[in-house]
Amino acid sequence: MCLIVSKKFIIIVLAGILGILTTGILLWNALLFTNSGTLARGYVALIIDDFGNRGEGTEEMLNLGIPLTAAVMPFLPYSRADADMAHQAGLEVIMHVPMEPVNGKASWLGPRGITSELEDREIEARLEDGLKELKWAIGMNNHMGSKVMQNSRIVKALLDVAQKHDLLFIDSRTTRNSAVPQWVGTLNYPYLARDEFLESPKNLSHIKKQLRKLGEIALKRGYAIGIGHVGHEGGKVTAQAIKEVCPELENKGICFVFASQIKEVVSYYKKNTVVPSESDMSN
Ligand SMILES: [Zn+2]
Repeated sequence: MCLIVSKKFIIIVLAGILGILTTGILLWNALLFTNSGTLARGYVALIIDDFGNRGEGTEEMLNLGIPLTAAVMPFLPYSRADADMAHQAGLEVIMHVPMEPVNGKASWLGPRGITSELEDREIEARLEDGLKELKWAIGMNNHMGSKVMQNSRIVKALLDVAQKHDLLFIDSRTTRNSAVPQWVGTLNYPYLARDEFLESPKNLSHIKKQLRKLGEIALKRGYAIGIGHVGHEGGKVTAQAIKEVCPELENKGICFVFASQIKEVVSYYKKNTVVPSESDMSN
């Protein structure tokens, strides 16, 4: 795992002892190493969606030994247990908020999802209850949501709750017309959004290709955010692909980090350009 040390603190200490000011970027990179001991040249956060169902691949993901962020759906029989297991396994936990899609079955939304007819007060209540259940959550992202993520009012209500609890919001980008960029100024961090989905289609060579693509984005832009899944969309095959490709990317200077650390990296680079994705914008 990479070690992140407070940049400000190190700058103050070095300036005092050596009497020189090192440029921020050299300092930052020098403090972050990949598992293979090379200097980090780019950062990749992998978010694994759809925890909360004890879905296929849950165990495999928990045992990878790579900093993953587990996005857990609330209000399901295994929501709390999966979140606890993920936390105990050293993963970061975020709440995977079920949100209404343009197309798709209502059953895919799960209980107490966010739909377009809900009033702000009810949206807030559902998010608050979910966060109470998932006590380890340090952020949120959206499950589906191609319809309501375009809705400016609903996105504002969502981001208000995130801001109130000092939580990250990472846009899964299930629609090209997300309303998040329009409200991102109300947050104290830049727009955080998925660059690539790992599985579509679900097969080992495709998922490995997607992981390598994330590596390329990170080497070019400094960071990349990928989303994979447990359950029928991915699970075991995605865990296998991560296991096989991660050492290769680390040898190229990629450092795997949690979503919260990507926030620091993005804030540092002050770049929040969205890379056009070839991944499906499904649901
Ligand atoms: Zn999902």
